[in-house]
Amino acid sequence: MIPIAKPYLTTEEAQAAYDTILTGWITQGPRVAEFEEKFARYTGAKYAVAVSNCTTALHLAMIVAGVKEGDEVICPSMSYVATANSIKYVGAKPVFAEVNPKTYNLDVVDTERKITQKTKAILLVHQIGMPADIDAFKRLADKYKLKLIEDAACAAGSAYQNAKIGSHSELVCFSLHPRKVISTGDGGFITTNREDYYQRMKLLRQHGMSVNDRVRHESAKVIFEDHVEVGYNYRMTDIQAAVGIKQLEKLDWIVEERRKIAMQYHEAFSDIDFIRLPIEEDGYFTNYQSYSVYLKENCPISRNELMQKMLDAGVSTRRGIMTSHRETAYKTEYADVSLPVSENACDNSIILPLYIPMKQEDITKVIETFKANILVAVNL
Ligand SMILES: *Cc1c(COP(=O)(O)O)cnc(C)c1O
Repeated sequence: MIPIAKPYLTTEEAQAAYDTILTGWITQGPRVAEFEEKFARYTGAKYAVAVSNCTTALHLAMIVAGVKEGDEVICPSMSYVATANSIKYVGAKPVFAEVNPKTYNLDVVDTERKITQKTKAILLVHQIGMPADIDAFKRLADKYKLKLIEDAACAAGSAYQNAKIGSHSELVCFSLHPRKVISTGDGGFITTNREDYYQRMKLLRQHGMSVNDRVRHESAKVIFEDHVEVGYNYRMTDIQAAVGIKQLEKLDWIVEERRKIAMQYHEAFSDIDFIRLPIEEDGYFTNYQSYSVYLKENCPISRNELMQKMLDAGVSTRRGIMTSHRETAYKTEYADVSLPVSENACDNSIILPLYIPMKQEDITKVIETFKANILVAVNL
């Protein structure tokens, strides 16, 4: 069976975890500090705050951006549900806007249409690694005096206008879940250029504690900590950070290898009329966290039937990106919300296996299985 995804982990990562365990310092400490410095340097942001996952990263971003009960935040429904959930955590309301059907990223025109007196922020997702048009959303946020937060969960290693994702705006959130391009098991980051946000997020991720354990541990004098506001335990551990430092060293190479496989899919499928392939326009550089193909209306095989046929042949696939407003947790509250572009894209997209290293025979099998099922259906 060809899996849909697989993290790229080697004995280097295992050794780093092993070595860290034997230092006796296993939760947030020196390895986390080193990883933060390296992640900031990699993305080109001034600061990076390591946290337990991207969902907690988004929660802290909402807090420091000042999003509160009664506010509205515009985001895509077509995203992993954690995007919308993070808005709910602070008592605000996710307002779903449509996506651009070619990139699956938030549509700037529909976003502007959904701005009201209550709108406080826009949560912009770089869906499956494809950067959204950050400049257009920055202009929109400036025009209406809104905060812009980036959900870059999938976009480590992607770039927009020749700069790495993480460097463009005040709050950018990343995930290190195994389904993303580099992983620490679970883990996340917020990058920011604002010193005040940086300091507050460091407090909030560790119980609002005025002095962190490491400073207290290294101090020659007795220090008593204070808890200056109600915080959270959103720490990353040093074991995770040690793994992450090794993963980060490989990130650009991993992205290049993923792009080579995506190019093979691209070339193999470019002559099929019934489908639409991912589009990377000038100024956009994707890490291909996922390779999603849209089946047009004239496609002779349905998406679900194609998924079953591929599974029968030993190739795992996934449905396209979900829509949050149709999930059970949201559908009652959003019963009157209609997002035809997002719903159509979700229902007719299929995600193909993409991981490294992926054997050439497996890449070829994915291509042949996919093409054969569509072409067989044509001949019927
Ligand atoms: C994966 C993902 C998240 C959640 O990341 P975790 O690290 O699992 O919390 C949030 N938003 C998007 C768009 C994602 O793809």
